[in-house]
Amino acid sequence: MLIYGKAVSADTRAQLKIKVADFEKKYGRKPCLAVIIVGEDPASQTYVRNKIAGCAEVGMKSLHYEYAAGTPQAEIEKTVKDLAADDTVDGILVQLPLPKGYDEKSLLELIPDEKDVDGFSPTNLGLLAMNRPRTISCTPFGVMKMLATTGVDLKGKNAVVIGRSNTVGKPMAMLLLNADCTVTVCHSKTENLAEITSKADILVAAIGRPKFVTADMVKDGAIVIDVGINRVDGKLVGDVDFENVEKKASFITPVPGGVGPMTITMLLANTLQAALAKAEK
Ligand code: NAP
Repeated sequence: MLIYGKAVSADTRAQLKIKVADFEKKYGRKPCLAVIIVGEDPASQTYVRNKIAGCAEVGMKSLHYEYAAGTPQAEIEKTVKDLAADDTVDGILVQLPLPKGYDEKSLLELIPDEKDVDGFSPTNLGLLAMNRPRTISCTPFGVMKMLATTGVDLKGKNAVVIGRSNTVGKPMAMLLLNADCTVTVCHSKTENLAEITSKADILVAAIGRPKFVTADMVKDGAIVIDVGINRVDGKLVGDVDFENVEKKASFITPVPGGVGPMTITMLLANTLQAALAKAEK
């Protein structure tokens, strides 16, 4: 069976819209997300456009700061600092990757933990590791929502995550662990990868290699989540060889229309949560 992120996302956004309207009624302002983009990378520009459109869809305010590649880092840092100090801004997002030459780490460190709606800060990642989640990285958060729609009890399941990035693989593994799965994290140095993946009840691919996960790597009846977004000949392709793996999986996410739409929806959810946390202080 397919897990359509688009449909789960539409439901979640409909609920968010109601909560955002309640927030505005109660606090006299809209939750606000500020998005900063540097450079002209077309994929990044599309993501930013979709984030801004998502805000509008659920009734949130968005601020958009666009800088040409080569803009001095100090200028962008000033914007982040101003947004950090602005009480009417709830979330700050710097679209990654930044063009070459920028110090990504020092720029991201200027975002206060409570406005880190991407869930990338060491504090937010650390809280998740301690199973005291506050702001959860959007993509893995979306995957957990999608897994919930299967109705499968995750407790005790054997989960394998391919990929160990700080933004996807690691928080994904922590969320599955917090959900009482037995978790294995694989990466480019993993030996006997197929042997490990073929024992997974839940297999998450977050690699960035088109059709990397083939049917022989998948257990019969597994839930397969494809986080990958790869552009091949102008088309979007996941990390999973969908046509063949689909025949073995009990549930599988398509690309496009799977995990992707959920990511922005969870960003909106995180922004509302940040706004509520501040307003209710
Ligand atoms: P990343 O930072 O490049 O991490 C990729 C991970 O895959 C690394 O841990 C790497 O291992 C591992 N890997 C690479 N080649 C491998 C191999 N041959 N065997 C096993 N593991 C291998 O990428 P990311 O940011 O996590 O993103 C992963 C994918 O998800 C990309 O396609 C990205 O576009 C997509 N993505 C989608 C969304 C969404 O909304 N759907 C959001 C974010 C990312 P090492 O650590 O050893 O290098």
